[in-house]
Formats: sequence, C-alpha cells, structure tokens
Amino acid sequence: MKISNIASKIRPSQTLSISAEANMKKAMGVDVINFSAGEPDFDTPENVKQAAIDAINDNYTKYTQYEGNIELREAICDSLAARGLEYKPEQIVVTNGSKHALKNAFSAIIDPGDEVIVPAPYWNSYIDIINMVYGVPVVVETKKQNVFKITADELEKAYTDRTRALIINSPNNPTGVMYTRDELEAIARFAVEKDIYVISDEVYSSLVYSKKSPHISIASLGDDIYKRTIVVDGLSKKYAMTGWRVGFSASDAEVASAMANIQSNSTSNVNSIAQVAAIEALDNGNDVAADMLREFQHRRDYIVQRITDIPLLSCMIPKGAFYLFVDVSKLLGNTVGGVELKNSTDVARALMDIYNVAVVPSDAFGYNNYIRISFATSMRDIVEGARRIEKFVKDNY
Ligand code: GLU
Repeated sequence: MKISNIASKIRPSQTLSISAEANMKKAMGVDVINFSAGEPDFDTPENVKQAAIDAINDNYTKYTQYEGNIELREAICDSLAARGLEYKPEQIVVTNGSKHALKNAFSAIIDPGDEVIVPAPYWNSYIDIINMVYGVPVVVETKKQNVFKITADELEKAYTDRTRALIINSPNNPTGVMYTRDELEAIARFAVEKDIYVISDEVYSSLVYSKKSPHISIASLGDDIYKRTIVVDGLSKKYAMTGWRVGFSASDAEVASAMANIQSNSTSNVNSIAQVAAIEALDNGNDVAADMLREFQHRRDYIVQRITDIPLLSCMIPKGAFYLFVDVSKLLGNTVGGVELKNSTDVARALMDIYNVAVVPSDAFGYNNYIRISFATSMRDIVEGARRIEKFVKDNY
C-alpha cells in the first residue's frame, strides 16, 4: 500500500535513533558511552515525582483544558515573567514536549509552499517538522567566523516573497552559542520589516553558564517583535523531565488560539498527571535545577579541556545548553577499520562501531565536519568517553 509523499520524505529523528542504537547495544551487554541524545542523566526531582503520585491518588485523571490546566499556564507565565517576558495564560499552550509546540506553531502559520529560514547547524527535527506541514525549509549555512550565528545580511539574502518565518535557537543545539542583544535586535528589525514570524526555540534558556551573558529572548525586544514571536520551551532539560513530555508555546493570543484548536483535534491535553508534576517543578524545582546546572558546568569544563588536549580535535566553549560541537575535519581522509572517513557520519560510525562511543554527526544538523557530544551524562561516562575518543585519534593518526 502507498504511503503519502510527505510521509516518505520524513526521516527518523537522528538524535533519537542514534541514542536508541546505543541503548540497544547497552541492553546486549556492550559498555557503550552514550554522548548522543541531549537528555539529563539526573532523576526527576523527588518533590515533582511526589506531586504526580499525589495527583494519581487524588484522581486527577480526567481530561484537562486542551490548551493546558489553568494553574500550569499561570505557573508558566510566572516563570516567563521571571525572565522578562509578560504573557497571559490565554497566550500559552501546553504541549507534549517542545517538539510538539514547534509542530503546532508551524501548523498554525505555514501554508503549503511557505518558506521558513533555518540557520545551520540546526536541530535536526526542524527540517522534518516544516516538511510535515508542507512548508519549505530554507537552510542558511552560518559561518564559523561568525560563531555559527546568522546575520541580518544572510537573512536578507535568504528572504523571498514566500518567507513566512525564521527560527532562532539560543542557546543553540548543537553548538552551545548564544545570541547577544545586538544580534537579536538586528534579527528583530529584519523580522518586523518583512512582517514575518520568529520561532524562538528557548528550550535551553535556563542552561546558561555565565551570569555576565544571560539568555535574552527576542520576544522581549519590543512590542513589534513580541507580536511576531512564538516562544517554544519545555521542562525536559531544566528539570530532568524528558519522559514526562511537557513543553509549551507562548505567543500572540490569536496564534495561541489557532495552535490550541489544532491541538484539540490531535493530541488533546498533555497527560494530566504530568501537568501537575510540571506545576510543582516550576513552583518548587528551581533549587534542584540550579544544582544540576552547576554539575553541567563542571562536566562542560572537564570535557572541553579533554577534547582540546587531543591533537587534531578542537572545539569552542559552549555558553549554554549541554553540547560540545567538535571539529573533526582533520580526521577526514584516513582509513579507520577498513573504511575511509569521508564525513562526520563516517567518524561517528567508527566511534560507535569500534570504540563504543555514540555521538551525533553534524551531517544530521545540516553542517559538515563536526560531531556533537552531549555532556548531559554522568561524569564516569564523560571521563571514559573522552579516553576512548583520545584512543581513537591515537590509534589511527
Ligand atoms: N533534543 C535532544 C537532542 O537534540 C533530545 C533528542 C531529540 O528529541 O532530538 O538530542
């Protein structure tokens, strides 16, 4: 039987499939170091789990409002206000993870053939989500000398009369770079002048390592850009709640209502128990989140040093998120395990097959010659994974 053209175009999420492969090898008894998916290794905080248990015992098990329980939307508004963003509950839609918020957002604003500017390296799922709603991703390769950040000039060149939106992701997955206020202001001017939407993926906004360069939301830069921005965020990364699937969007009320209508006919509300857990996380989870952030910083500093010490490899210090984007271009051309390494996918494959280290090749993010290491994993694994990567280079170069 035929599947639709659009479905046959959709690829499995590479971050998730590489992680699944690593977990499968682990289940078979192989000691794999999993640096692939960006998933905190910490347990969900105790008070959050307890709130969920209480919710079950209190029979909070019926449908909720499809756009999300009002208390949760209020708690989300409070947390956004704490970072300088004023929203009302009717502007919030609670979603099954932030990926789902992106799907709602593109479904609400894209007509078939509309273009979305996506700076590369990009998080892999953007492309497939845009394709799923019959949009056209217009990928703009950012430059290393611009620290992988898109400029207003590059946006101007990519713009056509079909451009409907652009994506900004700061702190960025996979590079860890963050946009400054000036850079965001230039992008905001462009978006306002062209009258297009900005999808601002802020899922790593709480994972920022320097108080001197805090996260800035493009939506906070004035009324005109606020109206045009759809902020996408979630609880997965900050509160170690990946499996609970709680994300949200914050936008103009009209767009929020369109997204809520779409959601009412697809997934309905997010799991009622998870919503109660999310309220507890937002209200009382910030101390634990701060402890986790300190630990991520410690791991970041360690892995940056280890990778920098390995000849032929180089990386920048990520300012946010929990990824290290490692330049492997000097490894290309050699033959490892009988295979010539032609690109980042070959490097990642050799690391997985021969050294049992799972990383994501930058090919998955629309960029050549890098691998992404997630350091949201235990210090034991980071130490051992760094040792294996060092051995990979020593053995073969
Ligand atoms: N967003 C994380 C990553 O990039 C989790 C996996 C996924 O959904 O892509 O690894």
